Amino acid sequence: MSGIVVLFFILDFISPVKTAFEYSPVIEGKDGVILHTYLTKDHQWRMKTRLDEITPELKKAIIFKEDKYFFYHFGINPISVGRAFVNNVFRLKRTSGASTITMQVVRMSEPKSRTYLHKIIEMFRAVQLELHFSKAEIFQMYLNLVPYGSNIEGVKAASILYFNKSPDQLSLAEITALSIIPNRPNSLVVGKDNKDIIVARNKWLKRFQKARLFPDNIINDAMAEPLTAYRHEAPKLIPHFALRIRQSYPGKAEVRTSIDANVQTKAENVLTNYSNALKLRNIYNASVLIIDNRTHSVAAYIGSSDFKDLFHNGQVDGVSAVRSPGSTLKPLLYGLSIDHGIITPKTVIADVPSNFQGYTPENYDLSFRGSVSAEDALRMSLNIPAVKLLDRLSVKYFCSALVNTGFTSIWQDRKKMGLSMILGGCGVKLEELTNLYAAFANEGRYFPLQFLVPDSVWLKNSKEKFDSTSIVKSIQVLSPEANYMLTEILSELYRPDLPNLNDKARNIPKIAWKTGTSYGRKDAWSIGYNKEYTIGVWVGNFSGKGVPDLNGAGTAAPLLFELFNTIDRNANAEWNKAPKDLAFRFVCPKTGKIPNDFCEEQVMDYYIPGVSNNERCDHLKEVWLSPDEKIAYCTSCLPQSGYRTKLFPNISPELAAFYDLNHIDYDKLPPHNPDCSRTFGGQAPVITSLTNGMTYLVIDKEQQQLQLSCNAANDVHKVYWYINNKFFTSTKSGEKSFFIPDNSVIKISCTDDKGRNSNIEIKVRFI
Ligand SMILES: [Zn+2]
Ligand SMILES: [Zn+2]
Repeated sequence: MSGIVVLFFILDFISPVKTAFEYSPVIEGKDGVILHTYLTKDHQWRMKTRLDEITPELKKAIIFKEDKYFFYHFGINPISVGRAFVNNVFRLKRTSGASTITMQVVRMSEPKSRTYLHKIIEMFRAVQLELHFSKAEIFQMYLNLVPYGSNIEGVKAASILYFNKSPDQLSLAEITALSIIPNRPNSLVVGKDNKDIIVARNKWLKRFQKARLFPDNIINDAMAEPLTAYRHEAPKLIPHFALRIRQSYPGKAEVRTSIDANVQTKAENVLTNYSNALKLRNIYNASVLIIDNRTHSVAAYIGSSDFKDLFHNGQVDGVSAVRSPGSTLKPLLYGLSIDHGIITPKTVIADVPSNFQGYTPENYDLSFRGSVSAEDALRMSLNIPAVKLLDRLSVKYFCSALVNTGFTSIWQDRKKMGLSMILGGCGVKLEELTNLYAAFANEGRYFPLQFLVPDSVWLKNSKEKFDSTSIVKSIQVLSPEANYMLTEILSELYRPDLPNLNDKARNIPKIAWKTGTSYGRKDAWSIGYNKEYTIGVWVGNFSGKGVPDLNGAGTAAPLLFELFNTIDRNANAEWNKAPKDLAFRFVCPKTGKIPNDFCEEQVMDYYIPGVSNNERCDHLKEVWLSPDEKIAYCTSCLPQSGYRTKLFPNISPELAAFYDLNHIDYDKLPPHNPDCSRTFGGQAPVITSLTNGMTYLVIDKEQQQLQLSCNAANDVHKVYWYINNKFFTSTKSGEKSFFIPDNSVIKISCTDDKGRNSNIEIKVRFI
């Protein structure tokens, strides 16, 4: 006997039992709804049944039918083996019933022809299985492998494809109907032979009744139950997302994602209707990502409005595609600038033509506003103030903030990033942008985006837990105070990117949002958030084709509003709670600084004590004048007596140049004392780099630049260059600048900071 045991263990070691089966990947929503399934490599529907999906009814019925002594034998039932042997030897009747559930598992996983040798191997394998696995696990294997006709294997695939429900939702009638299919898979086809299946089903239900397996009333109900089952299509929802998840978790039979099927369906319906209208405007693609702010996870994911639209690249996943963000990164820049004490919401920034080492951005509407508060600049999405702030904060710092919050393309291109990135000169994904805004919804705290429900949450009392408890690293990207100010600005309704709403969408949701339009009108963005959800919307063409009337406010924002109104109707209006370190103060609206004695008006502003700038307002400056106010004095020429003081607007040279160019009136200083020792006459700057009346040959229109330089008087600090009467740049006196000629006759003007001016005219010939 001991010899047999030793031999068994040697064989067990040499030839271990095979239990790894390939399953159809099943992608589920957060509540277990099956969203998408894939065939196995051998083209079977074989979905893994979890232990918690095996109900007592399912267990009782199958074990009664297939192997009554399943819980009592060790893989082989000696009595039925003996009986089958006797029957076979004496040819009394055909062998049947000798196979235990364990032996059936062996046969299904290693199919072999029916010989006595194979039967012995099968029994050996059955004992092996019993030795290594619990009864519950062996029963689970059986349920996963048993064939249900066509290419359906296992009770889970059968219950989903025939009844459109999971095994734990099956009725007794359905369980019994399914249990008889494996015996006659060719003659009992669900949907075709339902009448015959009912007859066979009720025969077994009567046997159950006789054996008192279930109460009479339940058996009677089951016998009366009609059978309407037919072969359903396998679930194929959320194709872009499902594919992405499948690729991220290869080999995993069941992935419980964070998708909220209810939110997903609503969002898809809204997008489908909206996309139909967009098609009339030659806009064929749109993507939506909805993040649940509480769990930092994806609630809905629509890669493109129509996966099946092959003609317009519907299979491209717009949620993970890299596109130009337009103005959508500006909120982070303003928030960071508040945290660095550079601005508060009421800080006034000059919105005038500016040159940043050769980079001369323009506003979206090609006009300039002179001075503007930071909050209005963000609301109006002005470009010059944003570039100025980025110049102050530094591109490097801004990039590092974006890299820390998961912007992968910014990381890859970090060395190439320049000031233009704040106007869309960089690449981002809809999921990156949306998750950044989700940080704004979480008091400035960023969390990596989650796609799954952690296994530890949904797989209760099960050994099947996978080790996927990812460590969520959060980062405070903005202080709660800066974040609060930012959210206040972004929830303001009086702004230019409020879409022209029709009657249907007049109900504006209480959200904070920002729109964006990329260069060439290729991408329209709108990202918004409230306490519950952050929604990102991208609209455009995957082909990259720009459309003249494509823009964030008109094309993307209405969709964003409709999505919020549809998925989150009863959102709490009071959601942006003031953090404890937020403080209020009065400032002068002319500068946004602490009011001085001469400041007439005061407005309320937020600030962060210890962080925000505490400078006193300097919107006026005191100037010494002659009694008739016709001459101004400086410290070196101020007479002992006989002068008076007066306040004048303290305007920066760039703003003064802007006012002069646009004929905007302001209180100008009278000319400086002509007898002052610090003034060297009235010599205007002399342009030295180009000669009046000359013709310059330019070889490559795109590449070749002409130099601007001049000799200015000693008292000059800055000079201002104009090309064809349009402001071009300002430089320090003696500094060189360059421009690309684009006209055959070019007028060049140079004005110094004392207002002295000289002009030349040159000709350019392109060869
Ligand atoms: Zn003031
Ligand atoms: Zn002077």
